[in-house]
Amino acid sequence: MSLMNTIRYQFERNIVIQELLDLIFPRHCVICDDTLWGKHEVHLCVHCFYNLPLLDIRDTSMNNFLGKLFWGRCNFEYCWGWMEYRSGSKTSKIIKELKYKGNPDIAQYLGKLIGESLLEQEQLKKHEVILIPVPISPEKRKKRGYNQTEEIAKGISKVCGFAIEDRFLVRNIMRDSQTRMNRVSRFENMQGVFNINFGIFNEIEQSKSNRLNAPILLLIVDDIVTTGATIETCYRAITDNLKVKIGVCSLGLTNK
Ligand SMILES: [Zn+2]
Repeated sequence: MSLMNTIRYQFERNIVIQELLDLIFPRHCVICDDTLWGKHEVHLCVHCFYNLPLLDIRDTSMNNFLGKLFWGRCNFEYCWGWMEYRSGSKTSKIIKELKYKGNPDIAQYLGKLIGESLLEQEQLKKHEVILIPVPISPEKRKKRGYNQTEEIAKGISKVCGFAIEDRFLVRNIMRDSQTRMNRVSRFENMQGVFNINFGIFNEIEQSKSNRLNAPILLLIVDDIVTTGATIETCYRAITDNLKVKIGVCSLGLTNK
């Protein structure tokens, strides 16, 4: 059997196996609950997938929707959000699934989709990108069993090959719930929540000198950006101590 025939045989065999599994163990779309079918439908049905409110990938500057949220607060080298997020909307079910229903697999799946978009972006090709997932509190991590931003970063890394550094930003203390706070209150509530680990940054710089001769870009990865207070606090914790380029990439952002 030729190589092409072998590959085709394996591919078709995998499709048959997946379809058999789907008959025995039906899977369902996390948005509409329709039955998923075959290898091309993963977590989302084709209809829901193509109706995701994805944001424009062409502008990753401070002039885009996410960047304007940070005007006067942060100066990002790169900023981009993948999807618009509205609380209570159909697509908010995805976020509930990855945050509250113990489904890290969907976070990695979405990270891979984000990664496919990031691969095309010239701005990132000029840098050595290090993914920095926003840390969650130890209490939340214990309850959830994982940090969803780390899982998103893993998905991005699998596609783009970017390194992940989850020890660089350190979350110190659990603050009050921020759900009902405005932007200023949230920012004040977050003060001192994040520290940076200088030793880890030295490791990043040393490993860099052995590889590419491109500037480091620390790309903060978050799930949902609402007021931007968490990201701003991360940004200040870094820029108060280090001179390094910083970017932000979020799965979703609210359009208030
Ligand atoms: Zn669906």
